[in-house]
Amino acid sequence: MKYLKGAEERRASAYMEQAALIASAATCTRARCGSIIVKNNHVIGAGFNSPPGEFESHRYCDKEKQTYEEKITDKTCCIHAEQRAIMDALHTNPNELTGARIYFTRVDAHGHILKSGKPYCTICSKMSLDVGLAEFVLWHENGICVYDTQEYDQLSHEFSK
Ligand SMILES: [Zn+2]
Ligand SMILES: [Zn+2]
Repeated sequence: MKYLKGAEERRASAYMEQAALIASAATCTRARCGSIIVKNNHVIGAGFNSPPGEFESHRYCDKEKQTYEEKITDKTCCIHAEQRAIMDALHTNPNELTGARIYFTRVDAHGHILKSGKPYCTICSKMSLDVGLAEFVLWHENGICVYDTQEYDQLSHEFSK
């Protein structure tokens, strides 16, 4: 992992602002997240979290995570923003995913970026690895941080509070 500086950091923060704008469309009542995938300075995929497909009414957003059975692997209520961005890129730019960089942010009720904690989502880390994304970007309190996707996946599996 490395923290970006200077022009690289400014460019990344502009992409984070784009992801934040996309997050404003999230319909989840628990969290609003946005993600974009960038390759060669072009956005090749974007997404926000919400219930799956046409099933907007099938929502579990108010269900407490601790009430789920242990075997349920995803205790969040919605399709994740990163999953959506990856699926978007697979539809629209399938040949561009290899080596691309994915940005993720959560926003508050006013659409302002909320700084991220440590990587923890193994669903998105595995999917990112599987489609060949090179890097995963989070905005931490200390700055905008770029992770190698393998490192991001490993850290997600090692996550503890
Ligand atoms: Zn939800
Ligand atoms: Zn995820």
